[in-house]
Amino acid sequence: DEKILEVKDLHVTFSTYGGTVQAVRGVTFDLFKGETLAIVGESGCGKSVTSNAIMGLIQQPPGKISSQGVHFKSKDLTQLSKKEMRKIQGVDISMIFQDPMTALNPTLTIGEQLTEGVKQHKKLSGAEAKKRAIDMLDLVGIPNPEERLKQYPHQFSGGMRQRIVIAIALICEPELLIADEPTTALDVTIQAQILELFEEIQAKTGVSIILITHDLGVVAKIADRIAVMYAGKIVETGTKREIFYTANHPYTRGLLNSVPRLDLKEEELVPIDGTPPDLFSPPAGCPFAPRCPFAMEVCAHVYPEPTSISDTQKVDCWLQDERAKKLIQEGAFAH
Ligand code: SF4
Ligand code: MG
Repeated sequence: DEKILEVKDLHVTFSTYGGTVQAVRGVTFDLFKGETLAIVGESGCGKSVTSNAIMGLIQQPPGKISSQGVHFKSKDLTQLSKKEMRKIQGVDISMIFQDPMTALNPTLTIGEQLTEGVKQHKKLSGAEAKKRAIDMLDLVGIPNPEERLKQYPHQFSGGMRQRIVIAIALICEPELLIADEPTTALDVTIQAQILELFEEIQAKTGVSIILITHDLGVVAKIADRIAVMYAGKIVETGTKREIFYTANHPYTRGLLNSVPRLDLKEEELVPIDGTPPDLFSPPAGCPFAPRCPFAMEVCAHVYPEPTSISDTQKVDCWLQDERAKKLIQEGAFAH
């Protein structure tokens, strides 16, 4: 399979008056052509910061990015100038955010917003761009596209607006689409329709998708592979099947067992009692240790390097690591 994105040891920090937040702490993953990788985790785990870093959307300073490379096809995105990055944004890599209303300009027609990028980046004439815009509205399931091009965002429902945002993101035929909580603001029926739309579009265009979400229902529906993030790290990766049926990390299991609570908003889902560690001074050991029912002495002191469970599944947990037994026997971490 063709690899289109390779992220190696990505770190992102933000300096604030209160100190430096280590938001992303050594994230490594690959993305293949035509697949959907879901990055899942609680609010604040670093999933949005990871995608913003790939996309070149982190303001530096106060942000600071370091890595062994973020390779999109043959280019290392971290080595590009702002100008070079702008040629890629929205053209080769597009991004969709949670709230379709803020993504659209209320003062411009849908047609103007659809054709703007494609005229500029693909050098299409007005007529060619208009034809492309009509095709895109058709692709995302908006009836009477030619008429609707003349309308403004407020003349569309929330679900229709998100379809338009998707059309804008795809009009330059990007190879990578990053969708950050793309259905969170929508009601359940519309959510399902938008997820189906992603699948249809992927089948038709072969676009690779990174889906950022806290919602395992969304993941179950459209992910091929899943990366579970916790406290700025990917703690487990695997195929959808592996994560849903043979998860190894206690945090992943906790997420799978969590049931939405009526007294919490969705973003506040807490899979296991306790809260993630403070990323101003993250622990040296496993960040999940204070919440983990299986924590051993070693967990608090040394971060568990990834252990391969299969060709596709990897987990950062001492329970899976042969070295843990040795370290424990040696009494290296006795009180
Ligand atoms: Fe729990 Fe230790 Fe595994 Fe962390 S490394 S998840 S604390 S068992
Ligand atoms: Mg987020």
